[in-house]
Amino acid sequence: MDQKGRQLQFLSPYCAAVSARIASTLVKEGKKKGLAINVGVVTPYSAQAQLISKILEGENVDRTRITASTVHRFQGNERECIVFDLVEGYPYAPGVLTKGQFINSEPGRLITVAISRAEGKFILVGNSRYVRSRFNKDDAILQVMDGIEKSGQVVDSQSILPLFGTGTPPTKAENISKELLECNLSVWNEKSFYEAFRHDLKNATSSVVIFSPFIARKRLNTLLNDFRLCIEKGTKVYVITRHPDLSSYKAETQELIEQIREIGVKVLIASEEIGINEKFHDKIAVVDNVVLYHGSMNILSQTDSSESMIAFRKRKTVEELMKTFDINRIIRKYQNIAGKHLSAIPLIKMVEKKLMEEMNPESCSECGERLVLVKGSQSFYFACPNMLDKDCNTKKEVDKEIVKKAISNMKIECKKCLRGHMTFREGKRGPFIGCDQYPISHCKSTLDFDDDFVG
Ligand SMILES: [Zn+2]
Ligand SMILES: [Zn+2]
Repeated sequence: MDQKGRQLQFLSPYCAAVSARIASTLVKEGKKKGLAINVGVVTPYSAQAQLISKILEGENVDRTRITASTVHRFQGNERECIVFDLVEGYPYAPGVLTKGQFINSEPGRLITVAISRAEGKFILVGNSRYVRSRFNKDDAILQVMDGIEKSGQVVDSQSILPLFGTGTPPTKAENISKELLECNLSVWNEKSFYEAFRHDLKNATSSVVIFSPFIARKRLNTLLNDFRLCIEKGTKVYVITRHPDLSSYKAETQELIEQIREIGVKVLIASEEIGINEKFHDKIAVVDNVVLYHGSMNILSQTDSSESMIAFRKRKTVEELMKTFDINRIIRKYQNIAGKHLSAIPLIKMVEKKLMEEMNPESCSECGERLVLVKGSQSFYFACPNMLDKDCNTKKEVDKEIVKKAISNMKIECKKCLRGHMTFREGKRGPFIGCDQYPISHCKSTLDFDDDFVG
């Protein structure tokens, strides 16, 4: 997802769930023995540390005993037990914070700090197959792993967070206990996942969002009826997928997209313009903003590969993950472009109105629809609102200076410092709107073009 894309590499919801579970188990087991054990969960990345904190809120444990933080922030602290969550995994290459030797490298220093924070136990959480294949023999983390394998203890993460349904025949929803369906954290395999997911679809009341890079007929057919039922009862179904051109089954993919659009599914094709990397990897499903699945499975194309999906049901965890994956923003952007279901007026629509007065962008040459203002990752343009559903490629660049002028004419007050005005600025991640007091009082207030406009 363009700007966030780089950040997603630094997040592993599964590792976060395992790390949180280990930490809470250590504290609980200690308590049983009459010991007050303090645990530090450390990780190279702040997004991961934040997610672990949120997950811990859902674990029934004395939170004062566990600190989750980046290694960097944890420096100078010590705990009886340290859980080090490495995060790194497929399909990304190891990050600059973790790949390096012990001597003279930042990763070496970071790992040394992590280990030396432990007064007692040191527990490394990571994907060992990945570490073996992507790190070198003299990289610090592989040396630590070798050391643990030689003189420590290796534990399969599945015994910590059991994968439900492994080795069992396809499970019927009625056989899955309500308790498991509704617990804060659960892990599903390719067989059990669909039953759990359909249970959620059945109960969905507002929205279903599915990130599935690919779509295949066989799998889609098993879900069509569930989608139909959702739409009939007024639940919106969004599917985010890759462009058919990027599939080996281009014609079939195109046909399937048409088919689900016909029954009312809103299909968003990933593109930089709508803020999703066209080759995105994320496999996510969110139902009613209360349950979020994340894992390795292409939900709309899985056939016989073995996969796993973790389900988060704790509200704060789901909110945190939705923020990280930028899900609400993507849906808002879709709505802003398509002009549907708008409850409040987003800022981009206000700017659009201003620009309409100055320039006449005319209509789409394909379908005749009035063009709308769209913010791409680095630029603005007028485009056909049907570009999301059809091959309407009419596009007219808008000079950024015009957008800048329109925003300054709107005189939007800063809601944070109450002194400044929100102005058009350009950052590394493209245009944004920020408080003009930033150079003076460091007010960091910003607005997004897809946010609701509050004048
Ligand atoms: Zn058009
Ligand atoms: Zn301000």
